[in-house]
Amino acid sequence: MNDKKIFQHLFATAKKSKDPRGIVSACLITDSKIVVSFPSGDDGKIHAEDRVISEVENKNLIDGSSILYCTVEPCSKRATEGMADCVSRIIRSGIKHVVYGARDPMHSQITKQRLKEAGITIKQVSDKNLIKKSAKIFNESAEEPNVIKKPLG
Ligand SMILES: [Zn+2]
Repeated sequence: MNDKKIFQHLFATAKKSKDPRGIVSACLITDSKIVVSFPSGDDGKIHAEDRVISEVENKNLIDGSSILYCTVEPCSKRATEGMADCVSRIIRSGIKHVVYGARDPMHSQITKQRLKEAGITIKQVSDKNLIKKSAKIFNESAEEPNVIKKPLG
């Protein structure tokens, strides 16, 4: 699986969501295969990463090769009280690698710092078209001030 194929799968998965706060799609790759994928929830609260991590934890699908792919950079703080941010969930899950599409300026700096401190690699996908499409999917469903204006960072 290359990045392009993985993101095409994420874009198809995003079509299943009606998230009014900006559609995000995520999947876990283990042994070069997509093992679980989900878009963000229709309620605007459950993040795509929440759904993927819950499922892969339940099914024990994480190993050293696992990479979490997401169309938007994971959050380091939640607006919804009582819910763990995605960075905390990633750290606790044992996932060691993250690849994202669009940069999220609201979270980027702290997200990168916390993951790095936890020994987790995070990088933006290199293909600019995949980054722009990730931002477009988010922005077409999100309202100000959440809209991502500079997805390339
Ligand atoms: Zn999140």
